Amino acid sequence: MDNLKRIIRQYFTDEHILPIETQEEHSQTLPIVEEEEEEESKAPPSPSSTTPPIISENKKEESPMPKKTETSNFIIPIPTDPALLALYNECKTCKACELCDSALNLVFGDGNPQADIMLIGEAPGADEDEQGRPFVGRAGTLLVKILNKYGVQREDIFIANILKHRPPNNRNPLTAEIAACTPFLRKQIDIIKPKLLITLGNFSSQYILETKVGITQIRGSIQESSYGMVMPSLHPSAIIRGAYPVALLEGDLVKALQYVGYDVTIEE
Ligand code: SF4
Repeated sequence: MDNLKRIIRQYFTDEHILPIETQEEHSQTLPIVEEEEEEESKAPPSPSSTTPPIISENKKEESPMPKKTETSNFIIPIPTDPALLALYNECKTCKACELCDSALNLVFGDGNPQADIMLIGEAPGADEDEQGRPFVGRAGTLLVKILNKYGVQREDIFIANILKHRPPNNRNPLTAEIAACTPFLRKQIDIIKPKLLITLGNFSSQYILETKVGITQIRGSIQESSYGMVMPSLHPSAIIRGAYPVALLEGDLVKALQYVGYDVTIEE
């Protein structure tokens, strides 16, 4: 009998066993989830904000909150540079926020420790969390494809995120999480000393530049910040979902490459 009860519980959720009329009422109260959002609507929380934003750069990749596991089928990049390795080990044992409890892996960032260009995204998505490496999904593939077109390999640059662990269901980072995690980003930048940071998307651009101006207005401009020289650009996931033409991101990346000394011009 106990087995029978367990099987019934396993296969029939509350919704299945609600009476039909109640199910209809229930379905009418479900929240409406927006399928797409404009890049402009993504903004980091203001320091005084206590309400977590609910839109994410990687919204399309939403999945149920994963269970934490220490295993991965992928080779997780571990820095060879001693200073970065020490910082990596610090991040690995960090418990400063709760994201380490739900994330599968630390996504510290990887690339050339002497890179002239450092790309900064918002936070790991599902693919990044699984592989322990930033920008490995479709967005990362697009980014690397553009760079390859101009003779730049992924290994030539350094890629990191504002957060080192994935927020559940790709929700936006909370103010407290950013405050806890950005000291790691600052230390990464201090070690790598890139000539230029490229912030990808509204969230990281507005956070690093301490501005509320939308990404479409500031993208492609090279500005000073407390983290060093920064060029904000569009997040490749916004290009993939068709919000902007790829030429805008490509133009920005070429401008960034020229800024750090690459002899490249836009290819048709
Ligand atoms: S997200 Fe950052 S602050 Fe939070 S546990 Fe991970 S490393 Fe620590």
